[in-house]
Amino acid sequence: MASAKDVYSLGDLRNWNVAGRSAWLAVIGDPVAHSRSPQMHNPALRETGIDAEYVRVHLHPDELSEGIARMKDVGFAGFNVTIPHKSAVFDAVDEMTETARRIGAINTVKIEDGRLLGHNTDAPGLRQAVEEAFGASFGELRVMLVGAGGGAGRAAAVQCILDRCPRLVLVNRTVEKAQALADEFGEIASGELLAIPWEADAMEAELGRIDLIVNATSVGMKPGDPEVVPARLLGPDHLVYDMVYAPARTCLMEDVEKAGGRAANGLGMLLWQGAIAFEYWFGRPAPVEAMRRGLKG
Ligand code: NAP
Repeated sequence: MASAKDVYSLGDLRNWNVAGRSAWLAVIGDPVAHSRSPQMHNPALRETGIDAEYVRVHLHPDELSEGIARMKDVGFAGFNVTIPHKSAVFDAVDEMTETARRIGAINTVKIEDGRLLGHNTDAPGLRQAVEEAFGASFGELRVMLVGAGGGAGRAAAVQCILDRCPRLVLVNRTVEKAQALADEFGEIASGELLAIPWEADAMEAELGRIDLIVNATSVGMKPGDPEVVPARLLGPDHLVYDMVYAPARTCLMEDVEKAGGRAANGLGMLLWQGAIAFEYWFGRPAPVEAMRRGLKG
């Protein structure tokens, strides 16, 4: 078995002598100790009989390029990328998928014959999570995306555009960022695309023609946070997908359920981005239920 170390460092990669596996996978980040990815990927590896171990590797930004080079040398098959490296890894890969290119950030890298192949599984992970939670076809939904100025918001917007959602309303506290995104994607969007400020009146004017509200901000994680969408604007036809998963039930989720609508938290997105990464690395279906049990465990 691999050493039980919780977090590895660049120093460990320089002297990699962790025995017992023929391949390695990792999540790299700064910080990374909080990452729940090992608890879903290791059960998936055991379930499929793949002789690999998934570990956490803490790399500071100035250690990133050496860290990736060392991982190639010592037999890593791939890695996930978390804050703050998603953009830097975008510049480091040899090839990438169309989804990653549009998002401008990479969260999954496959190492094949010494080459780095990049993908972004947050976006398709969101789609899969929404479809699983609500039994809806993502590409048929009219979407209001709150938090369109961040990385997760951009990934969600790209997925809506690639899936040809009929309506996409980008909402952001700093409205200029949402407007810049709308301008950037205006030409390729097949549905209606607009940007509005994060203000009650502006949201109220749009919510009558919205099926799915996505919270892509961190608002709702702390008690006393402001409302993502005012409760009085939520109705029985609204679906809420909250990317936040701690707490498991946010105020936004409670508010839409009280109004007769439905809600799901971000755990499904975490699960499905992992499952899609597994499929990208190994070219085979991920054992999703083993991964789900691992996340809950
Ligand atoms: P980020 O890049 O920091 O984005 C923050 C976004 O939220 C921006 O649009 C920002 O607006 C907005 N925002 C932040 N604080 C706000 C506040 N107090 N009031 C109003 N708007 C606020 O973060 P991120 O990486 O995109 O992540 C966003 C959230 O998604 C986090 O909670 C993260 O944990 C979650 N997430 C979940 C998953 C999953 O698998 N479930 C995956 C990725 C991310 P401005 O532009 O105005 O600053």
